[in-house]
Amino acid sequence: MASQYLDMVMGQVVARNPGETEFHQAVREVAESVQVVIDKNPEFANMKVLERIVEPERQIMFRVPWVDDSGQVQINRGFRVEFNSAIGPYKGGLRFHPSVYLGIIKFLGFEQIFKNALTTTPIGGGKGGSDFDPKGKSNNEVMRFCQSFMSELFRHIGPDTDVPAGDIGVGGREIGFMFGQYKKLTNTFTGVLTGKGLEWGGSLVRTEATGYGLVYFVTRMLQDKGTDWKGKKVVVSGSGNVAIYATQKAHELGAKVIAMSDSNGYIVDEAGIKLDTVKRIKEVERGRIREYVDEYPSATYVEGWQGIWTVPCDIALPSATQNEVDEAAAKALVKNKCIAVGEGANMPSTPEAIEVFQQNNVAFGPAKAANAGGVATSALEMCQNSMRLSWTFDEVDQRLHLIMNAIYDQCTGAAEAYGVKGDLVAGANIAGFLKVSKSMMAQGVV
Ligand code: NDP
Repeated sequence: MASQYLDMVMGQVVARNPGETEFHQAVREVAESVQVVIDKNPEFANMKVLERIVEPERQIMFRVPWVDDSGQVQINRGFRVEFNSAIGPYKGGLRFHPSVYLGIIKFLGFEQIFKNALTTTPIGGGKGGSDFDPKGKSNNEVMRFCQSFMSELFRHIGPDTDVPAGDIGVGGREIGFMFGQYKKLTNTFTGVLTGKGLEWGGSLVRTEATGYGLVYFVTRMLQDKGTDWKGKKVVVSGSGNVAIYATQKAHELGAKVIAMSDSNGYIVDEAGIKLDTVKRIKEVERGRIREYVDEYPSATYVEGWQGIWTVPCDIALPSATQNEVDEAAAKALVKNKCIAVGEGANMPSTPEAIEVFQQNNVAFGPAKAANAGGVATSALEMCQNSMRLSWTFDEVDQRLHLIMNAIYDQCTGAAEAYGVKGDLVAGANIAGFLKVSKSMMAQGVV
């Protein structure tokens, strides 16, 4: 019965959102997991909760015109999908990357609903961005683009309505330019964006939060396997915000990160990646990961990012982008005796890859649980902004740690309660879905 119902819902999603393959993939995973919940609670089907959750409350698309340094007019497309506000104001990052289209923003926004529910903080789900590529642009070009983007977005967001943050291609610099424009247009100084600079409303630990949170979550997965980080070889894909701070925390806990990547290729340093060098190349010089081997000739650089999963490791932390770990990559990791995979990026593993991990007893931490530390700390930033005070680094870090433990407990608890003990994918989906669905039921058909 439930499976027929879910097929029907899935059929509608595909028909109503043609070509949005990443969105279909994200919905399918959740729908499959919550089948057991709908079996037990027929009122969710009667009230069409799932059909309502898969339809964004609001989708905004807009023109973003700007002038480049040579005086040419450029036109990009801006997006904000306000997906679900059942448990709080819409919350989720902005992605600036040439691959961005509505399907990517919707998959990210949909995932965000359940992730945010798991954080134990009161935030709904949303996501946005643009097909603008900050790479190779001057600071002034990035500023003009961000100002134009915010000139439309400002009318849709607000500290109690919708609070965007960063994602791929949107870091402190872009948040600064957008915040400045929002402040100018509205004549208000509010916590309308998170990931702000520390001098003007940002929270300590926000920069590190996704990477640190990922490592705290994987720590629990390792504990359940009777082990820890000490002496483990780790491969981390990407070399952006998530990858850098996951690497830092893994090193602190005694592991050795031996490989990192960017969209061109990957480096392997069996002696352990020197993170200060990666940080300087990627964060300060905005250069390429291959430049690492100029300083450490005993390390190797391999062109092409996919091969990173063939590097033997105990723990893999995919932290670059969606669908970067396919079935072949998963099989290579299993063959090399990888014991745990924690998703730092959003939906980095394909469904086939997840199946390979689960069939081979590889502990698997899904993104919406494992990388929720970033948005959770954004919620802590909102909290500090509302109170007009700032907590210390240790205070925020401790709260982050507690939240990641709570997320882990919710996932394992929900999985056990619904007969799929140990399945963190199902556990995360079920726990998130239950919280949002119950709130939607209580608030009537809106
Ligand atoms: P950044 O823009 O800081 O970094 C992205 C990194 O991934 C860059 O090193 C980029 O390389 C690399 N990359 C992009 N595509 C590929 C690819 N196909 N293969 C290998 N590397 C690639 O982004 P974030 O670190 O913020 O985000 C990374 C992931 O984490 C995304 O999926 C994001 O949605 C997710 N995430 C981020 C959060 C955050 O707080 N920032 C919170 C939760 C999830 P290059 O320099 O060549 O572009």
